[in-house]
Amino acid sequence: MSRPDEYAGDMRWGWQCPRCEADVSVDRDHRSETFRWKCPTDGCLAVGIGFSSRRRARLALREYRKAYQNVYR
Ligand SMILES: [Zn+2]
Repeated sequence: MSRPDEYAGDMRWGWQCPRCEADVSVDRDHRSETFRWKCPTDGCLAVGIGFSSRRRARLALREYRKAYQNVYR
């Protein structure tokens, strides 16, 4: 089965919370000069900090998502 929405999903990889699918933004932490992402949803504890670049934060978020989904399956 082909999924035409999959491509659009790829365009957004790394930007959604692995747990609740909320949009997650990557911010720069000016104190430590690193990047971090944090789920904006109250009660959702998904977070990643200390990345050296925005891209690394995205990759980490994607890995987190993969790991989480593997556990969930
Ligand atoms: Zn979340």
